[in-house]
Amino acid sequence: MRIKRMRAWQPVCESAPQDWRSLLGQILVEIELSTGTIGLGVGGGGISGIHVIDSVISECVLNNSYDSPAEAHAAMVTHTSFYGRKGIVPMAISGVDLAIWDAFAKEQKLSVFELLSDQQPPDFLPMYQTVFDDREASAAVADGKQAVKLHVERYGDKPDPADIRSLVKATRDKLGAGKSIMIDAFGRWNVETTLEIASAIVEFDIEWIEEPVGPEALDAYSFLNAKSPIPIAGGEHEYLKEGFEDLAVRQAVSVFQPDINWCGGLTTLIDIYRVAADYGVRVVPHRGSEPYSLPAIAALDSEPLAESARSWFTAIDGIPEPTRDGVKLNDGAGFGVSVAGAS
Ligand SMILES: [Mg+2]
Repeated sequence: MRIKRMRAWQPVCESAPQDWRSLLGQILVEIELSTGTIGLGVGGGGISGIHVIDSVISECVLNNSYDSPAEAHAAMVTHTSFYGRKGIVPMAISGVDLAIWDAFAKEQKLSVFELLSDQQPPDFLPMYQTVFDDREASAAVADGKQAVKLHVERYGDKPDPADIRSLVKATRDKLGAGKSIMIDAFGRWNVETTLEIASAIVEFDIEWIEEPVGPEALDAYSFLNAKSPIPIAGGEHEYLKEGFEDLAVRQAVSVFQPDINWCGGLTTLIDIYRVAADYGVRVVPHRGSEPYSLPAIAALDSEPLAESARSWFTAIDGIPEPTRDGVKLNDGAGFGVSVAGAS
């Protein structure tokens, strides 16, 4: 496989949030193999990610021959290792890696799932919906979701545990037993707040507390994962295999939540599943019902659960439609995606 052309650009998505994701936002990456096969990936890093691709990634991979996407990935990671082991560089590599996987599968007239598994694909994969209150939680479950995650960042850095408790209680009262509830603090709390809130809500059978503290505070994660009565989840802002190995060795989290469009792409997500199996960690990819994570979840996960997609990312066609039975893998070769409006 020889990559002869590469292009990265930042699409305009109406109603994309006015936070870092719009400034350092999602980028599209298109590659063309020497055979003419086109691959499409989505990465991150906005104009900074594009600069990384145009400058160092393209000089690294263009016109070289690779037997597999993993070989190209190793070349990109090695080429950027002095300055790019976390953040924008792996976000850019993710887009290129996914474009390479897309083209690699299309060359063989296979879906990415078929590259990863000999099994029949599941009819549907269970989904969870990220919600903001008990009313949205009820609607999500009525819509067929297996679980809901309450995003509680708006309560701030030091929320009153009673406020979180009443939100969780109202949600559990509406959902009844049997549906999982998770909590996402978006890295806003500290150790003390996390433990206070965990003990205030543990009776409501909470599946995990996600990103209770900032992603750099690995000692705090290890402490919380040992002390909290509710499992700790994280990794949405972690990068490359080595980053997840570090989380695993430190027993920092019980659930890995890699984002395939940021963490290093499908090659890295496959590595993360291996690390997770070695260390007994569950994997629930961030926004997993989008088309890039879903083949890996279907092929590699023994306890699949796909998070709802981000509604504002409208730059590609091929976002699987959630149904009352779950979310279905895309048909067709590669990831089954195309640039929105291009077909
Ligand atoms: Mg999160």
